[in-house]
Amino acid sequence: MTLLFEENQGILEIMLDGLADSILVVDSSASILFANKAVKDLFELTRDPVGRDILEVVRNHRIHKLVLETIESKKPVTEEIELTSGQRDTGQVVLSVNAEPLPGFVGDKYFRVILRDDTHRVETEQVRRDFVANASHELRTPLSIINGYIENLREGAVEDSELAHRFLGIMKKHGDRIARIVEDMLTISKFESAAHDPTKAGVFDLQSCAHDVVERLHPLIEEKQANITVTPENRPSLICGDRFYWDQIFFNLVENALKQNVRTGLNVKISFHDQDTHFRICISDDGVGIPMADLPFIFKRFYRVEKHHSKEIKGTGLGLSIVKRAIESHGGTVEASSTPGKETAFVIHAPKGDVEHAVLMETESEEQPFEAR
Ligand code: ADP
Repeated sequence: MTLLFEENQGILEIMLDGLADSILVVDSSASILFANKAVKDLFELTRDPVGRDILEVVRNHRIHKLVLETIESKKPVTEEIELTSGQRDTGQVVLSVNAEPLPGFVGDKYFRVILRDDTHRVETEQVRRDFVANASHELRTPLSIINGYIENLREGAVEDSELAHRFLGIMKKHGDRIARIVEDMLTISKFESAAHDPTKAGVFDLQSCAHDVVERLHPLIEEKQANITVTPENRPSLICGDRFYWDQIFFNLVENALKQNVRTGLNVKISFHDQDTHFRICISDDGVGIPMADLPFIFKRFYRVEKHHSKEIKGTGLGLSIVKRAIESHGGTVEASSTPGKETAFVIHAPKGDVEHAVLMETESEEQPFEAR
């Protein structure tokens, strides 16, 4: 019978150790009677916490106060508590802490404390809040400009056809900007909500994708008299991925190089290096570049380099954030470096995926007629 009890207890402990939540049981003097493995990981404990005071283990006065409150009131208490870097080496952590008397024991002498790591949820909420705030701000500016011109037209400018034409031209430009912001936001939301794995979309040639993008940008390349080279020439660079995403990546990077540089004769290079399991792709230009102070932020949503802002409407500040998201969803990485006036380079590492297997699957499914299945 005893053996059975010990066995049961062992099984219970193993199960509690497998949980992601940190679980503690304390007595009415806030001394720890039980702690699962997650507690030791969360507080980076080197010693067994059992038998020690909760404050000594968690080193956080708010958690301690919350536990004492439950012990005193014998009522459940829940609070969101931030652990500062002093309590952990690995940065800020937001915990949802719940303490309550363990039911079923006379006199409420045992108390259960559950600490749930809510950092990811809180961070995601913050990113969303920032996104909505930035998006509203970015949309409000062109909208109020358009409204201002409508007001001017209503107040009489419409009678002056030359003036009215000029105003309509400005309004069109700001209308286009709103459309572009909305389009970029929809692309980001598509990437975020995409239930499908882009690496499973199919196999295609990255180089031909780059060539297509160069062709689409031909009018802008002509206008800027820019030179674009893609190397090595005519060697397919097959990858498992979603071509729609890669179109966006090449388009945004090459268009950025062209539109950020007002001077003519810009040199833009797109190069592919086969590195066995992945491709190293470099997109570089010899234009104005990105100041060192701005480099760490350029992949953030709506971030634009102040110095580059001009009266002429340029980008939305979402292009590079789309690039980063699209590359990371393929398991790749992107890094930027810049020596203004010399070279600004975006280096991408993109895993090829299981190209051979995917090609085989595609060929097989093409070969098999539908009726034969
Ligand atoms: P935008 O829509 O404004 O182009 P991005 O997210 O694509 O936004 O880029 C963020 C900022 O990074 C741009 O506003 C620009 O200042 C800078 N940037 C990106 N690529 C280049 C480049 N090739 N040369 C100079 N500046 C660049």
